[in-house]
Amino acid sequence: MTDCLFCKIVSGDVPAKIVRESAGTVAFRDINPQAPTHVLVIPRVHHPTVAELAASDAELLAELVREAHQVAVGEGVAETGYRVVFNTGAQAGQTVFHVHAHVLGGRGLNWPPG
Ligand code: 5GP
Ligand code: ZN
Repeated sequence: MTDCLFCKIVSGDVPAKIVRESAGTVAFRDINPQAPTHVLVIPRVHHPTVAELAASDAELLAELVREAHQVAVGEGVAETGYRVVFNTGAQAGQTVFHVHAHVLGGRGLNWPPG
């Protein structure tokens, strides 16, 4: 998608602090971090939401979740605990409609989230 911010991060047209890459995914630091670790993991190909990714490529969704865990390992938060969030839809706070897993950790995380 030519008009998608995260597609532009995948292509390198928009710079980002890349943390990890896999065949199907890119992980980079959120520009407005909400925790000491706040990394976004996205598929290289454009899918708007996690539900649409699950419906069209379940293996890529599994790769995304595996990569989210490897980000947590690399950030040193896998043992203490981390949260993987897929905001879906405007009321849930989704602002970029290229599916992304938020990987949050490094501090106590409230439950339920606001
Ligand atoms: P959402 O609100 O859709 O769940 O998450 C979008 C996330 O993308 C937000 O946490 C926001 O801070 C982050 N974000 C928005 N624009 C950019 C950008 O240009 N670069 C990076 N690295 N993160 C961005
Ligand atoms: Zn996109």
